Amino acid sequence: MTTSIPLVVFTDLDGTLLDHVTYDWEPARPALAELARIGAPVVLSSSKTAAEIAQLQDRLGLTGHLAICENGCGLIGARQGAGPGDHAALRRELDRLPPALRQGFRGFTDMHLSEVMDLTGLSRDDAARAKARDFSEPGLWLGDDAGRAAFVAALGARGVTARQGGRFLTLSVGGSKADRMAEVIAHYRPARTIALGDAPNDIEMLEAADIGVIVGNPHHSPLPRLRGEDTGRIIRTDRPGPVGWNRAVLALLDRLGLQKDRQGHG
Ligand SMILES: [Mg+2]
Repeated sequence: MTTSIPLVVFTDLDGTLLDHVTYDWEPARPALAELARIGAPVVLSSSKTAAEIAQLQDRLGLTGHLAICENGCGLIGARQGAGPGDHAALRRELDRLPPALRQGFRGFTDMHLSEVMDLTGLSRDDAARAKARDFSEPGLWLGDDAGRAAFVAALGARGVTARQGGRFLTLSVGGSKADRMAEVIAHYRPARTIALGDAPNDIEMLEAADIGVIVGNPHHSPLPRLRGEDTGRIIRTDRPGPVGWNRAVLALLDRLGLQKDRQGHG
């Protein structure tokens, strides 16, 4: 007997499934439990490293599911996208930029562990996992908007993509969350897909899913109106982070008729 997968949920982490400030995910527990009950894999999709995501999968009860790391440069649980050593090549391209552009960017690799801890609020061990980059480089743009545009353009000319997350500007070579999504869909062959995210680096993923959910994040300016919002294919949550995530997923399961005998979830 073959079992068909009714749904795959792709989700960003920081500011989406995890609280932007505290990284708490407890409010999303009811929806995660419901997804587990109906056999719907939850694919974590983030700029985080493989080491960070593997630990989160364990905490969230998602061990063994595919996951997308470093903004789509890598796929956990299947063959890897880019090859090892890409991070070193990326750093070389970064260091070849004119000093005026290079000095405006402070990447995780440029930072001491304590600096990453301060910026992210992560523990020492978690910050070390965040610094263990295989593919991509998150960091802060310290200059003005014009300088940032010049920086992104100069990197683009060298084949390096810069994507803005909720907190960090992440540089990578090749591969987006949406590229890896197609591989995950080919693997699970679900009847439907939902994607949830809060930041510009999630837009491709939100637009590639059957249903996209923009999770509100009061810590940065809202995403521009996306294609799909007019038809209701892409929706926005009122509440931020895991509270918004939980409500949106339960409401969508209801709308899609996937909740079976469950009642009383509001
Ligand atoms: Mg985010």
